[in-house]
Amino acid sequence: MHYVDTRAGEQQVSASQAIVQGISKKGGLFVPTFFPQIDLDFIKSLCDIDYKKRAQAVLSLYLTEFAAEKLTKMVENAYGMSKFTSQGIAPVVKGAGGQNVLELWHGPTLAFKDMALQLLPHLMMESAKSMGENREIVILVATSGDTGKAALEGFADVKGTRCTVFYPKEGVSEAQRLQMLTQQGNNVSVIAVQGNFDDAQTGVKKIFTDVDLAQTLAEKGIALSSANSINWGRLVPQIVYYFSAYADCINNGTIALGDALNFVVPTGNFGNILAGIYAKHMGLPIGHLVCASNRNNVLSDFLRTGVYDARREFFKTSSPSMDILISSNLERLLFELCDRDGEKVSEWMGELNTQGHYTLGPKEMERMRGLLWGSWADDTDVEDAIRETWRNERMLIDPHTAVAMNVLDQYTAKTGDKTPSVVVSTANPYKFGRDVGKALLGREQIQSLNDFECCDRLEQYTGVIVPKSIRMLQQKPVLHKVECTPETMKSTLLNELHTL
Ligand SMILES: *Cc1c(COP(=O)(O)O)cnc(C)c1O
Repeated sequence: MHYVDTRAGEQQVSASQAIVQGISKKGGLFVPTFFPQIDLDFIKSLCDIDYKKRAQAVLSLYLTEFAAEKLTKMVENAYGMSKFTSQGIAPVVKGAGGQNVLELWHGPTLAFKDMALQLLPHLMMESAKSMGENREIVILVATSGDTGKAALEGFADVKGTRCTVFYPKEGVSEAQRLQMLTQQGNNVSVIAVQGNFDDAQTGVKKIFTDVDLAQTLAEKGIALSSANSINWGRLVPQIVYYFSAYADCINNGTIALGDALNFVVPTGNFGNILAGIYAKHMGLPIGHLVCASNRNNVLSDFLRTGVYDARREFFKTSSPSMDILISSNLERLLFELCDRDGEKVSEWMGELNTQGHYTLGPKEMERMRGLLWGSWADDTDVEDAIRETWRNERMLIDPHTAVAMNVLDQYTAKTGDKTPSVVVSTANPYKFGRDVGKALLGREQIQSLNDFECCDRLEQYTGVIVPKSIRMLQQKPVLHKVECTPETMKSTLLNELHTL
């Protein structure tokens, strides 16, 4: 299996090269040359095996250059019991009211980023080996919260790598901040940027394109790489859980083999839902994929009008991991919609870059509508959805998952579609204890409490146990204290690389 880039640049790239390089030289994203086709027997065979074996079966269709034993070992190391708490790894849980929910937050950092970032370091090291890359690989991450911690946890103490995370000093939740600042490992560093997420993101992009810096680092035997969701190694592990959820829904009696199943996905950078689109292209009987946005509703406007317009106000919401206006993985969808016309995609991306907007043609628009349905929910809708889901399903959900629950209601009311659906749940509710507490216990009840006390109260109220890793954050020593300004990110990085 080979890979091409979405902007008519590189052709016939190996999986290893796509993973090590991350992004194409023209700035495009790597996609497989074709989607391997599966049949119902393949799906049937998944029903009787565990998540790790399902992962092996799906990943081997794309990562053909890795020997089967190598893949088995990587999957074992990524999803072993020391990393994931739930036996099912990514279980489908049926609520008291019958709603199926795919829980993707049983990994070490309690958010769905672990599904890919636990495997990525292993893929990266094997890829580097097969490319003959013997420089040390430094993974740079700009994070608004969840990706940073998941990358740190994935790359901590992985030989031949270092991981440096930049986060906006005032832009993350208390649990997210402490998760990062207490991270152990002798190859990791976490740096607070005095600015917002855009400052951190822009600074990291500058570092990636700094020719002098690349030269300096090369002389020191260092290569830079990215753990952002544009990397193929972040996307391919996510295809697995759509297959796994489908098999689980056969096993729990929701559907019969071959029946259609809808998925509702809380969406920001479009990585999670894109993996679902790829699974459908492979032949998994997915009906509609429902794209759920928060108040930063650039995607739901796009689905409705065919105009992608990033020229709008940016809102801070209770679902911060979806606060995003430039959805980078959408480029991979555009590539499929226009029959893989890389020139066309380059044109759209150029317009987005220079004018802040682009418009699909009627053909692409019709195809997109056949695949996706989208809407959005604001913070009040989210609070209502958290309360209603607790009342109807007896499930405690986080604000991101609540966006999806609300949009599922809108979808059912507007379309009347009776196809069974799976809501994709992306974070443990206690990662956002303050907002969940506000919804379920009331604003006044939590006013005088800190985030940890909110979690305690929620536990008393619901009986849902606070994860040990959240509880322990209060006692763990803060190990990372470096701060910088957007202007001094480069020199701060060099200093960190020197002293690590
Ligand atoms: C990253 C994230 C999302 C958005 O996923 P995308 O792949 O960026 O669309 C949703 N919920 C949570 C909790 C996340 O961390």
